Amino acid sequence: MSHIRARFAPSPTGALHIGGIRTALYNYLFAKKMGGTFILRIEDTDQTRYVPGAEEYILEALRWCGLNPTEGPGFGGDYGPYRQSDRKAMYAEYAQKLVASGHAYYAFDTPEELDAARQADDTFKYDAKSRLGLKNSLSLPAAEVEKRLASGEPYVIRLKVPAEETILVQDLVRGEVSFQSKELDDKVMLKGDGMPTYHLANVVDDRLMKITHVIRGEEWLPSTAHHVLLYRSFGWEAEMPQFAHLPLILKPTGQGKLSKRDGMKLGIPVFPISWNSDNPEDAFVGFREYGFLPEAMLNFLAFLGWNPGTEQEMFSIDELAAAFSLEKIGKSGARFDFEKARWFNQQYLMASSNEALATAVKPWIAAKGHQPSDEYLQAFCGLMKERVVLLSDFWDNGAYFFEDFSVYDDKTIGKKWTTESRALFLPLLDRIDEVANFVASDLQANIEAFIAEQGLKFGDVLPILRVGLTGTMKGPAVFDLMALWGKTETRRRLLRSFDLFDQLLG
Ligand code: GLU
Repeated sequence: MSHIRARFAPSPTGALHIGGIRTALYNYLFAKKMGGTFILRIEDTDQTRYVPGAEEYILEALRWCGLNPTEGPGFGGDYGPYRQSDRKAMYAEYAQKLVASGHAYYAFDTPEELDAARQADDTFKYDAKSRLGLKNSLSLPAAEVEKRLASGEPYVIRLKVPAEETILVQDLVRGEVSFQSKELDDKVMLKGDGMPTYHLANVVDDRLMKITHVIRGEEWLPSTAHHVLLYRSFGWEAEMPQFAHLPLILKPTGQGKLSKRDGMKLGIPVFPISWNSDNPEDAFVGFREYGFLPEAMLNFLAFLGWNPGTEQEMFSIDELAAAFSLEKIGKSGARFDFEKARWFNQQYLMASSNEALATAVKPWIAAKGHQPSDEYLQAFCGLMKERVVLLSDFWDNGAYFFEDFSVYDDKTIGKKWTTESRALFLPLLDRIDEVANFVASDLQANIEAFIAEQGLKFGDVLPILRVGLTGTMKGPAVFDLMALWGKTETRRRLLRSFDLFDQLLG
């Protein structure tokens, strides 16, 4: 096979939905697997839908998850420019070629006239049946068409879709899909302002950029019939790219397509990174800000519509590329199971080195105003990584590593702390002070010995130490915490807490 060239072609019309990242991922994996090239093309010809900041958002999202294109805006490549608005001069020429070869025509109907036609008949379609009754270069005399063009009258160029034909699309995921041309309309190729529509620009660019595989969401399948007609009209059919349409991503319930509103409704991210907006209706939290590692998110997304056919679930990006194939993509919708996304993240956090985690966790702790040393942060991550699901949990469950708690488990303390407790625990603090080798095992041995000597029960002592040190009954082993904090800090924490606990006695 010739050199594989796959592209991700998003339109900068707002935040890129998580489905867009899955499309980018599958293109990336396929290119990587085949030793091919992964290309990013920005499809921004629709000025009315352009949203400032959306292109930057796409680039930032791809960068965050490491899906870096080999060619694309800002990435170099021999087939640029890779932003359609920088290519606009070339599309008109292709539209004119279609007119010259009889595959397209000029249409002069005003928007008002078309609206009126739609009002009169709500099934109205600009097609083989209706076109001769409308104002275009097929229905008007040649001289009049010339006159209109010469006078600068606005026009669009429409594709002349054949009246009765079956159009077959060979899809690598769905097999052969057929369309009846009588169901299709004569789509606009070039708009009144001289800008191409998505269809023309997309096909021309796939051709000029030598794209071999078009891997995109299922919502583009119907357009593919027009695209096949375009390839045919240009005489490019023999080198038409292969198509693979990815299954829909369904709501967590499995009913219906996942929408950006679902994220808000369910309080879960459906975007890779946050999209900020003054309008709260239009601001979305991302997987990144929610506390996901990009590797975990990609692993989760890889399985939304694809599976390797084995039991293995954890895949690095290189393993995914090695295992990937378009044939293993499913046809049916893939349920967006957020619990599964969390599970992946938890697995990745547990499997990460303390050094790597410290790097990932650092900004979360810095955002709370703390700049611990790398060494301390690594120890913190090591003690916490089995106890978290999201990066945000490191702070949420472990803030006491960085600052004194003010709220604590007073239920437990209420049961355990009595008027005699202080007298009992002060000698224990002295005993702890005497531990020469301040490591978890020696601390444990000494504290256990103290408990035995005093005829106490573990359940009377350990909860007080635990809540006294951390404010909570959950978390890493008490002896590990003491070893990390050292003598002075352990003592300081416990004495401070004993004062707090005394207040409960009233
Ligand atoms: N610009 C289209 C989009 O926003 C691209 C569809 C395609 O990949 O052809 O998804």
